Amino acid sequence: MSDFAARLLRWFDACGRHDLPWQHPRTPYRVWVSEIMLQQTQVQTVAGYFGRFLTRFPDLPALAAAHEDEVLALWSGLGYYSRARNLHRAAKACVERHGGALPDSIEALSALPGIGRSTAAAILAQAHGQRHAILDGNVKRVLARLIGETEWPGKPAVERRLWAEAEARLPGTRLADYTQALMDFGATHCTPRKPRCVDCPLQADCRAFAHDAVAGIPARKPAKPLPTRQARMLVLRDARGRVLLERRTSKGVWQGLWSLPEAADDAGVEALRSRLGADRGDALPAFIHVFSHYRLDVRPSLHGVREPRGTPPADQPDQRWVSATDLDTLGLPRPIRTLLESLP
Ligand code: SF4
Repeated sequence: MSDFAARLLRWFDACGRHDLPWQHPRTPYRVWVSEIMLQQTQVQTVAGYFGRFLTRFPDLPALAAAHEDEVLALWSGLGYYSRARNLHRAAKACVERHGGALPDSIEALSALPGIGRSTAAAILAQAHGQRHAILDGNVKRVLARLIGETEWPGKPAVERRLWAEAEARLPGTRLADYTQALMDFGATHCTPRKPRCVDCPLQADCRAFAHDAVAGIPARKPAKPLPTRQARMLVLRDARGRVLLERRTSKGVWQGLWSLPEAADDAGVEALRSRLGADRGDALPAFIHVFSHYRLDVRPSLHGVREPRGTPPADQPDQRWVSATDLDTLGLPRPIRTLLESLP
């Protein structure tokens, strides 16, 4: 047995959880129900639900024979109800295909609804003592800290590294205890916030601890790339060098500020151009402006207007022809000000 497994098991013997309801007896069915209930849910919450569920459905055929409404009613309050529906569907599949028992191979088990690779491994290790690695959220955190993994564990390449690490650390014996030990250690010792590094039995081998990086591991999920919106902006300039600005009245970004007439596409540009008597114009350099929730891809163009129609347009109080010297007197978004100041 590796030094790591030996130290973890010593910790488990002294500090682990040995009296959980599903540990006595540790049958495949009881371990399975507990593993599904424990997904996204704390041990303390699960204990009561587990007792009531097992009283009503003491074995797999009883669960398979139940009406789904009753299964969901006993799950009521635990949340994530697809877990209960999958549990029920898997029980029926076991009656149909596996003689009313959970299969004892990792392939057949993980083919059942709601049972992923780690859950299948946890069931087989705990109920049959089989040698399979688990990698649930707690274990990912512990292993990521031990090896000093600074990337987000949800990334496929990182997940592969963590699986390899979990496999490499498996002992040859006491698989049920070792599996429970890893889960307990993650849940009670190497916790997400305030891990107990000071009295940690694994501290000497923990790279995150050695590099003072515990707080940043596991890394957070990277933010999603922002969506991009495109806008065509028209710089309409008359013979006196004034540009047409519009005040943004609608809700949203730049509300109340003065900006350029804007169109969503070529057809919109043409409509604006002909309404305002502008020439075909020239493209100006495109730029991107980043807001908190999207990126605005701005394609500006510069158009000459020989005779501004309506100066200022009486029926358009939110439009104004503005000279370069008056730009400072208006509230303009910074990228629009920069654009106007850089006009040829
Ligand atoms: Fe977790 Fe701290 Fe122990 Fe490292 S030293 S395994 S971070 S409790």
